[in-house]
Amino acid sequence: YAKSMGRNRYAVFKKAMEKAVVRKHILEKELRKALAEARFILRYQPQLTSDDNNFIGAEALLRWSHPTEGIISPSEFIPIAEENHLIIPIGEWVLKQVCHQIKYWLEKYGYSPFITVNLSAIQIRNSDLVSYIKNLLEQTKIPPNLLEFEVTETVLLHEARISIDVLNELKKLGVRLSIDDFGTGYSSLNYLKKLPLDKLKIDRSFVKDIPGDPDSETIIRTVISMSIDMGLEVIAEGVETKEQLQYLLKERCHLFQGFYFDPPISLEQLEEKYFTRLHDSVKEDRTVIHLE
Ligand code: C2E
Ligand code: MG
Ligand code: MG
Ligand code: MG
Repeated sequence: YAKSMGRNRYAVFKKAMEKAVVRKHILEKELRKALAEARFILRYQPQLTSDDNNFIGAEALLRWSHPTEGIISPSEFIPIAEENHLIIPIGEWVLKQVCHQIKYWLEKYGYSPFITVNLSAIQIRNSDLVSYIKNLLEQTKIPPNLLEFEVTETVLLHEARISIDVLNELKKLGVRLSIDDFGTGYSSLNYLKKLPLDKLKIDRSFVKDIPGDPDSETIIRTVISMSIDMGLEVIAEGVETKEQLQYLLKERCHLFQGFYFDPPISLEQLEEKYFTRLHDSVKEDRTVIHLE
């Protein structure tokens, strides 16, 4: 009986594996078409400061609108796009969208929130990245500090020297730089002083278990005080509850991103929820949102 159960389970497992492999092949082929057919969309997840839940910026998050599968998550297709290097043209599409969006907001409202863009290791090791971004900044004439790049610690795992050089070159353009998913990747903190960083993003996995889990609390407190001491901004990702927010505030973290405030939303929703209010307050007392 046990043997047949085992065989049965193996069959089920094998079938699931085959299905996953087939899906991956299909997605890989279709990813090329998706780029040509402009099937990608961006969602924007607000970043807020504690004073008055002030909206200061947003993270651009990519989705693939597939004709039959519906919306496909970046955690499924980005790894495939990285493998076959399609992440390069896809990433350029993201950068172009974001820079033109900032330009549009500046023209329409006279100001723009900063937008953060995720860069994967493959993009950073592409020798054309810096000049691509430089050209975009020149074309759109947007203030470079409205653009922030999020990289994970893993970009430093291989060829750290190259990545550090590229990040320094990017920084020279005047853009901002943050470490995403901080605390989950590369184990050495040595790179913190080698990189021209502006901000650390505390990973959601630590935020998830506060208050209550002593280890997560310790990690969060440590990251916050380290950031403050090093003169870096620190933002908590994945804030979902009021209790998490209160804990973070008590520990002196004042920047937040998470479902407690907003999920990733469309441009229309973003403007509707945050721009009208900002626009009015700008008109009333010229208190422009501080970007730095
Ligand atoms: P990430 O950069 O760490 O982005 C944060 C992810 O956490 C997003 O998932 C977001 O929807 C999700 N999230 C935000 N707040 C909460 C919360 O309160 N609770 C929970 N449970 N989740 C929350 P998403 O949009 O599926 O993106 C997944 C990953 O895909 C991103 O992780 C990023 O690494 C990658 N990615 C997304 N867009 C791009 C892109 O344009 N380029 C590159 N290279 N990677 C991207
Ligand atoms: Mg990110
Ligand atoms: Mg993150
Ligand atoms: Mg994360």
